[in-house]
Parts: sequence; C-alpha cells; structure tokens
Amino acid sequence: MKTKMTEAIEKQINLAIEQMLNSKNIYIVSHVQPDGDNLGSILSLGQALKSKNLDVFMLKSDEIPNDFMFLPGIEYMMDYDGLGYVDVLIVLDSGDENRIGKNKEILGKANLVINIDHHISNTYFGDINIVDKDASSTGELVFEIIKSMGIEISKEIGTCLYTAISSDTGSFMYDNTSARTHEIAAELLKSNIDKSYININLYQNRSLERTKLFITALNSLELYYNDKVAIVAITQELLEKSNATMEDTEGIVSFLREISPVEVAIILKEFHGENIKVSMRSKKYVDVAKISSYFSGGGHVRAAGFTVNSTVGKIKASLLEQLKDYI
Ligand code: 5GP
Ligand code: MN
Repeated sequence: MKTKMTEAIEKQINLAIEQMLNSKNIYIVSHVQPDGDNLGSILSLGQALKSKNLDVFMLKSDEIPNDFMFLPGIEYMMDYDGLGYVDVLIVLDSGDENRIGKNKEILGKANLVINIDHHISNTYFGDINIVDKDASSTGELVFEIIKSMGIEISKEIGTCLYTAISSDTGSFMYDNTSARTHEIAAELLKSNIDKSYININLYQNRSLERTKLFITALNSLELYYNDKVAIVAITQELLEKSNATMEDTEGIVSFLREISPVEVAIILKEFHGENIKVSMRSKKYVDVAKISSYFSGGGHVRAAGFTVNSTVGKIKASLLEQLKDYI
C-alpha cells in the first residue's frame, strides 16, 4: 500500500519545478477522449502555475465532454494554433505519445517535455518523467507538485484535483486508492471545496438520453465463460435509435463489472469507418492492461483500452480468444 513517493520520483518533481519556474512559456496538453483525471489534472496544474505568473496555455487534443464543463477554468482549454513557440510541454495522464492525438507534433517542437502519469504501460517519452504506477491518478501526482511548489490550494484548484482523483478511483473505491489518496482527499476537503457539487456533477447527472441508451445497451448484453466475461457493443445504429452520442456510453462498462459473476467487462464502441474503441475493466485477477497491450493499447491492471480498425464481430472473437488464457 502506497504511503509516500519514492525519492527517485521526488527528484523528478524537483527537476520539473525548476524547469517550470524558469520557463518562457508552458503548454499543458490533454489526451484524446479526455476524462476527469486528465482534465482535472490539467486545470489544477495550469491554474496553479498561472498563480505564479507563468505564461500557461492549456490545450485540448479532442472535444471536451459535456460532463466536465462544470470544472473551474474549463474555458482555458483551447486549440493549438500550430505556430506558437513552445518552451515547456507538459503531457498529463498519457501512457504514450499517441495518446495526445493531433497535438503529437508539438512533442518535436518543444524545448522540454515533462511527462506526468500513472499508467503501468508508460513509455517514458519525456525529458523529465514523473511516472508513478502506484499513484491512484495523475491528479495525485499533480497535488504533490503543487504542494512542493508551496502554492496554496484555492477552491478552483481543489475542485479540479478532487475531480481528478475521484474520477480515477471510482469515487475512492478501486484498488488503486491508497492511504495517501485519502490523506490528499482530506487535505482537499479542508481547502473548502464543495464536495456535494462535485459529486452531483460527476455521479448524479445522467441525462435522459444517456439513461435510455443504458437500457438499450444492456438489452444486448452478452455473457461468456460462465458469465465471467460481459460484452456490450455500441453501434452507430444503436446510438441513432437512442438519440444519444458516443459520449453517452460513459459508465456502461463499470456497470457491467458490478454484475456479481463478472470478472471482465468489455464495451466495444463502433465509430465511423470500422474504427472500434475497446474499453475493458476487471474485478479481481485479470490484467486487462496486458490484454490491451496485445492489441497495441494500454492502461492499468483493472482498466485499460485500445483502438483497432476492425469490425465488432471480428474484434469480439479475437478478444474472447485472448481471454481464454486469463479467465
Ligand atoms: P477507457 O477505457 O476509460 O478509455 O480507458 C481506461 C484506461 O486505459 C485509461 O487509463 C486509458 O488511459 C487507457 N487506455 C484506453 N485506451 C487506450 C489506448 O488506446 N492506448 C493506451 N496506451 N491506453 C489506453
Ligand atoms: Mn488517469
């Protein structure tokens, strides 16, 4: 159980702080399909660095889901104009360079790349790598950085950090939640955040369209290997029928994992042009990061994913073949 950072990580944090404080400008970039940990980390670090009068830009690599529009500072998220000089580039919550999608080109332009992440599959692509697979979330690492800089946790920063950590720990429930996670959460609560406001926005805000999609999707639930594997496929046809968007599939895969006999929950999302995004969650023993890496994806032991050019039928078959050895 994690209680504190290792000395090696602390050293990387100190190096990063020195570079940030002496930077000409700082760009912080999101990953594709940004989640609560990603956006909460960007906005807390970005606003903390701004409070030090640094020249900070927060870049989106994809559309921002409506779910996170409540985050203080979300209006800072902007597109890169393709021209701006980049001194320090900070990549958050991204296991590899491809996770930042269209903004990958900035990696080659920046004078210095700082990679801050907690994925077991991280490729250490930065000049400075603050990577801790034992951290519950990237938000947890950003908290340590902000504290090390002696920056006060404002209500805005605290709200973003709490969202980041709560999102990636399934509201402090998953295995990755440590004693340190709770200590940080306690400190954030003392920073005067409105916990109820955050929780309602994150967990009690499901739209009617999303609820209808949930019901329709669950009707197509398939179970394999003695009900240990649950699979749901979301096709474009299904979305149209429910008047929903792919964003509305959020939460389905974790719901599948909650079914008693289920060890591995899988959602297959069919985007246009045979582009299938697969999300996997496991409960007790299956390492889904390992299975995802077979398909050139990655993630964590209990939550991982990948994208392939294939059909729902084909990818389902090869996933079931892979799972045979694990289940
Ligand atoms: P989700 O299934 O919610 O998209 O992602 C679960 C976890 O797996 C996240 O931590 C995410 O970073 C990781 N993940 C999802 N898709 C990919 C992918 O295509 N490549 C890599 N490296 N990681 C992924
Ligand atoms: Mn994360």
